[in-house]
Amino acid sequence: MKHRCPICKAPTDSEKNADFPFCSERCRLLDLGAWASGKYRISQPVIDEDAEEESGEN
Ligand SMILES: [Zn+2]
Repeated sequence: MKHRCPICKAPTDSEKNADFPFCSERCRLLDLGAWASGKYRISQPVIDEDAEEESGEN
């Protein structure tokens, strides 16, 4: 099965590549890092809109 690496868009082959769907171990680790940083951002509270609305009434 042919596929493209989600990191660098290089063609990769599931039968030949142990790091599939990534083209290499480097891209696999990059994706793990991106996922971890995204999770860190989501864990922070987002309350800017509510705070702005309350201060507007004053
Ligand atoms: Zn890649």
